[in-house]
Amino acid sequence: MIGGGLVGAATALAAAHAGLVSTWVVGRPATGSEPVAALEADVAPSARTVVGGSDRDLRVYAISPGTQRFLDRLRVWSRLDASRLAPVFDMRVHGDAASGAALHFGAYETATERLATIVEHRELARVLETAASYLPGIERVEGMAAGFTVEADHVVVATERGPRRARVVVAADGADSPTRDAMGIGTTGRAYGQRAVIGNFGCARPHAGTAFQWFTSEGVIALLPLASSAGDGAPALSLVWSAPDALADRLMQEGPEAIAARLSLLVAARADSALGPLTALGPLAAIPLLMRSADRLIAPRSALVGDAAHVIHPLAGQGLNLGLGDVEALIASMAGREAFRDCGDRAVLRRYERARAEPVRTMRRLTDGLARLFADDRPAVAQLRGLGLRLFDRATPLKRIVVRQAGG
Ligand SMILES: Cc1cc2nc3c(=O)[nH]c(=O)nc-3n(C[C@H](O)[C@H](O)[C@H](O)COP(=O)(O)OP(=O)(O)OC[C@H]3O[C@@H](n4cnc5c(N)ncnc54)[C@H](O)[C@@H]3O)c2cc1C
Repeated sequence: MIGGGLVGAATALAAAHAGLVSTWVVGRPATGSEPVAALEADVAPSARTVVGGSDRDLRVYAISPGTQRFLDRLRVWSRLDASRLAPVFDMRVHGDAASGAALHFGAYETATERLATIVEHRELARVLETAASYLPGIERVEGMAAGFTVEADHVVVATERGPRRARVVVAADGADSPTRDAMGIGTTGRAYGQRAVIGNFGCARPHAGTAFQWFTSEGVIALLPLASSAGDGAPALSLVWSAPDALADRLMQEGPEAIAARLSLLVAARADSALGPLTALGPLAAIPLLMRSADRLIAPRSALVGDAAHVIHPLAGQGLNLGLGDVEALIASMAGREAFRDCGDRAVLRRYERARAEPVRTMRRLTDGLARLFADDRPAVAQLRGLGLRLFDRATPLKRIVVRQAGG
């Protein structure tokens, strides 16, 4: 395994649970801010917001019920600090201001217990890393991997601590995956010309487990509920504002208080003031957004998982869920192999690649389609969007299907 992010950690853990022995090359010591590395100047060293003696992570994930079940099987879900988890029971999606169209997803209406759970990055990293340090069968190697060579029945990975021999290389080394390059796998994709501005904000009224999303001419703005007990007991929200580059620069310059004022106006005008005025809870970070897709998921004795395999727009909050779905499928394929095959056997890896083709394609099309659709400001397109949202909102069975799909 190569990569010390959440997907790499989950791969090491899932392999150990399946009785597979592995070497986990974790890269440089984690700072907790790898995906925002290019913007470290904007971010506190640990990418955390520290307010009034309590601290919140700047990076949070909407974890789907399917991913929650997977993490439960890895026996880490119950190790998360329950007081820091925020269930999402409702989601309110607002279309263009002119159309006034809105979409409501409720856990009750769609017959699910919850739509997702908001979890902080460092909480997930903590439970995965702790579990990986206790389980037998995982050799943890600090430092970077620097390529690998493929032999007939094994591979040799070059690491800063010397070579390591294995049956297969699993690359979980992120969007710019050097291992993917070493595998000779190309990518397709494009930059969205947008950056995700992220930050935490307090709200005057309880959010009641509701996530809000606005598709606006200034980009996609999402406010996700955070656990009150993780901070000073007051209700709080995590912002992901996917803004065109020029606006993102302006937002970063204006700072958190100015964004809180902008959001307060938006909430007052287009969320029935449900949240009340917002206040800034700390620094911001901005992450360039791109779509990238590996041409293949496997090469001789090697496989890609997580962002090394696919990077999608965060508007659906599904990138990590998709990456952990890769892990589950890959380890299932290895664990279910015939006795005469080893884990790097082509047939074993092909089963993994086939299993992931459809879910990855569907999620890429959905997120990319929505990102394009709402970036198009022609009036006719805006009208169609409004109509589409209204029709979809009335179709409860269809909504159930979508919630089930996104929930894994
Ligand atoms: C604004 C934003 C919001 C998001 N929200 C959500 C959400 O709500 N829900 C969700 O499911 N997803 C979300 N995502 C997506 C999610 O952040 C990513 O899909 C996920 O973090 C990818 O994890 P990873 O482990 O594959 O990659 P990374 O986190 O990039 O980890 C890769 C690791 O590999 C290491 N590495 C690199 N090169 C080497 C080497 N040569 N040797 C060893 N190690 C190496 C790196 O140091 C790093 O630790 C969001 C993304 C963004 C940008």
